[in-house]
Amino acid sequence: MSNEAQIVTRIAPSPTGMMHIGTARTGLFNWLFARRHGGKFVLRIEDTDRERSTPAATQAILDGMAWLGLDHDGDAISQFERAPRHREVAEAMLANGTAYKCFSTQEEIAAFRDAAREKGESTLFLSPWRDRTDHPDAPYVIRLKAPREGTTVIADQVQGDVTIQNTTLDDMILLRSDGTPTYMHAVVVDDHDMGVTHVIRGDDHLNNAARQIQVYRANNWPEPVWAHIPLIHGEDGKKLSKRHGATGVMEYAEMGIPASAMRNYLTRLGWSHGDDELFTDAQAREWFDLKGIGKSPARLDMKKLANVTGWHIANTDDADLVTEINAFLALTNQPGLSQAQQDGLKAAMYCLKDRAKNLPDILDKARFVLENRPLALDEKAVNSLDPVSRGILNELTAQLQNASWTRDTLEGVLNTAADSHGLKFGKLAGPLRAALSGRTVSPSVFDMMLVLGREETLARLTDAASLDT
Ligand code: GLU
Repeated sequence: MSNEAQIVTRIAPSPTGMMHIGTARTGLFNWLFARRHGGKFVLRIEDTDRERSTPAATQAILDGMAWLGLDHDGDAISQFERAPRHREVAEAMLANGTAYKCFSTQEEIAAFRDAAREKGESTLFLSPWRDRTDHPDAPYVIRLKAPREGTTVIADQVQGDVTIQNTTLDDMILLRSDGTPTYMHAVVVDDHDMGVTHVIRGDDHLNNAARQIQVYRANNWPEPVWAHIPLIHGEDGKKLSKRHGATGVMEYAEMGIPASAMRNYLTRLGWSHGDDELFTDAQAREWFDLKGIGKSPARLDMKKLANVTGWHIANTDDADLVTEINAFLALTNQPGLSQAQQDGLKAAMYCLKDRAKNLPDILDKARFVLENRPLALDEKAVNSLDPVSRGILNELTAQLQNASWTRDTLEGVLNTAADSHGLKFGKLAGPLRAALSGRTVSPSVFDMMLVLGREETLARLTDAASLDT
């Protein structure tokens, strides 16, 4: 690390109203890479499209980043606000001869293309103004004086060397006639000024890299390291779209996937470290490298996500899970938990978190501890409380009065009660479960009794025993 120049990565999302999981993954890769190397991770909002770039759309990106825990260094930069700087660089390029003023009108360009098409020639526009100095007093754009011969090679860390023939690239516009920069120009100026050393982004930008390299060279700026990641595909191998499932990262937050699980899942989506599927944030930060990024598109796999989520939930501290659940309830506009409910949830967490696939799963299993007496019993629970079962529950309340409240003793008391009625324990568990949770699916009766404590358990058994069905 000592001799390594500081690494700076970035995420440069265009605000579109939500944060796509592809953008989230790109952000995550850049964040991991920067954090691993003690570098910086910067955020630039590419808000040049004034119609789409509303404050709400920008906020959606900030929310997505915050939820995923991708903290960026320094303030978020607005690309739009940097337009004067983009203009300044374009003008400096004019002055040093790496760019030129082009006075061709839209009509002339269209006519050039039509004629080329008719002759079966390339429609790539070659401006007649490239080397002219007899400038009229008319509107102009500033174009890059791109090399006309040879090749531009993108030395990509994921794709390998990608060679583009310069004859296939036109003299792209840097500054439009109204003085606004083009996206392609703004990206390079911003990345340079922000000191970005590594551009890690979706491979839909691979072709742009060739043009962007030409702008770096024209300015004599050092080129960043490029790493273009294959896009995420759906389970059928086609480009990800709504019909494959959720495409916005916050949709996953709203499903109750903890951010740590989403980070693990997204990190593994297109990157690998041997056969490791399940890992902590600390491991990801220690392992993440560009070499591990795969060349073929990763497929979104909801089953895998559920497994990863289950593992993270099982390995998260109980108190932290309560915090996550509070945040989840707030995010999804559900009523929050009282302090007593939070305490109950935390005490019960050990028996809730093991097979949970998401946070709502935990809440569902936690109903026995979140709800107050008298419990609203569901229909199946009511049906399991026939007169015989109610009689046994009644006897049990007396036997449990003085039993010590440990798992062993409770097991002993319940097994003896079942035996004395010639029942298997399972037959007794149904009505007990109904009495303690109001449902027929719940954590084990012993766990519920231990979490609820003697007083609440006896009160619930008494409620159920006196039910009038
Ligand atoms: N704004 C571009 C996007 O959201 C990213 C540009 C880049 O990473 O260079 O796709």
